[in-house]
Amino acid sequence: MRGAAWVMAWLLLAASGATWIARSELAAQREAFDTDARIAHRLLSQRAVEQDAILATLALLQPGDDAHSAQRLPALYPQLIRVERRERGAAWPHADWGAAEAESARLQRAVLAQARLDRGRYILLRAAEPTGYALEIDIERMVPWGDWPLAREGAVRAALVQADQQWILQRGHAAAGPWTFEFSKQLATESQPFDLRLSRTLGWSALPWGRIAIWLSAVALVLTLAAIVQRQRNARRRAEELLRLGQVARLNSLGELAAGLAHELNQPLTALLAGAQAAARLIADDPPDLATAREAMDHAAAQARRAADVVQRLRRTVEQPEHHAALRPVRLDHAVRNALYLLEPECRRHGVVPSVDGADDGPTVMADPIGLEQVVHNLLANALQALAQVPAAERRLALAITRQNREAVFSVRDSGPGIAAENLARVFEPFFTTRAGAQGGLGLGLSLSQTLAEGFGGSLSAGHAVPRGAEFRLTLPLAPAAA
Ligand code: ADP
Repeated sequence: MRGAAWVMAWLLLAASGATWIARSELAAQREAFDTDARIAHRLLSQRAVEQDAILATLALLQPGDDAHSAQRLPALYPQLIRVERRERGAAWPHADWGAAEAESARLQRAVLAQARLDRGRYILLRAAEPTGYALEIDIERMVPWGDWPLAREGAVRAALVQADQQWILQRGHAAAGPWTFEFSKQLATESQPFDLRLSRTLGWSALPWGRIAIWLSAVALVLTLAAIVQRQRNARRRAEELLRLGQVARLNSLGELAAGLAHELNQPLTALLAGAQAAARLIADDPPDLATAREAMDHAAAQARRAADVVQRLRRTVEQPEHHAALRPVRLDHAVRNALYLLEPECRRHGVVPSVDGADDGPTVMADPIGLEQVVHNLLANALQALAQVPAAERRLALAITRQNREAVFSVRDSGPGIAAENLARVFEPFFTTRAGAQGGLGLGLSLSQTLAEGFGGSLSAGHAVPRGAEFRLTLPLAPAAA
């Protein structure tokens, strides 16, 4: 994974985790709000029902029973501001209470005679004969603050609402924010049809930023560790690959060496054979022990022939390594990408950014995967070595993969010093190198690469690049299906 991918992963994990943390916090707050609201509603409803019960009890009092006991009620129930009685035949102090009493008589329960929620009070009235009773109730004192679940200076706004009137029990915090919890429910008695309305608005500051920050840092930490581990693993894999390629290269270089030796040895041996045969003929003209001499010469000739055979065989083995057995369809672009991957540190060190043309749908060629990778690796390594000889700003490396008839062509074009015309024909010779001394050219890389390419049924050629530099073209037969 590259840097951008790690950042994307961090963003994704960070965002989803933070959302989850925020959501669960909001859900917990919502749950707490709902629970508090239900408790508040129950407490207020109990008070309202209690007030119904007081009136019901008063209605049972006999006239003149104890007129004063009713007046002592406010001492017991702090929410009662006063208790009004209507004696038999008398009228209520307010005309509309009369209508309320008629209603109460019809319904056989207490009714609301007058509501002044804006002032925090209301009149609850119960018809009875001979004496009707009315309670004036102070809403503020009706709230059992001792058991009240909501902090009075807290964030929740609470109000008792009827029609267009309302009494605010507590103001709450008038925060602006994206989340609002609401609760609205009528008190649990028909006589006092007030809605208890609660609301709480949460702003961004209500989110658990501490936990979110811990999550973000934890994700960053884990991803950083993962990135480090991955980078180390990549470096190790690259090193192992290079080692493997190096080993193969060394083995193949040995083969090249043998090929060179065979080439060198075969001619003298052939000459020796011819000479020995001539000598045998000459000796045959000379005296005494002709038979023995001929025999000896024949023997020598046979030996020489056998030696030549051995060399021939060795050469044949070297020239035709078991590549045919290993040939199989290989994606050319994969081989190129692998080699590029291995040389990535090298490219970076030289400040070279290779451009690759036509690699997306790379052709499939017949080759030995490791051998092919080695050829590509050699070409790229040579190009990088050539580029190291020109100023950094002038370094260009252009790779291209193309199809031509039944073949695929991989070309490597660099803007290095190029190959001198007189050397063009020689760069594929074993042991030809212009890299002397510390640069340590063995001069076997291109020769080996050409042998490999020919082993795959393809070819490798060198030329001048335009406007300058060298161009190498590796041509390989397409795999049957692709062809
Ligand atoms: P070595 O790299 O060990 O010298 P090679 O067989 O890979 O052996 O290359 C042989 C020679 O070909 C190099 O010494 C160099 O002179 C020449 N050569 C190869 N590739 C390039 C290139 N891209 N640009 C210029 N010269 C090159």
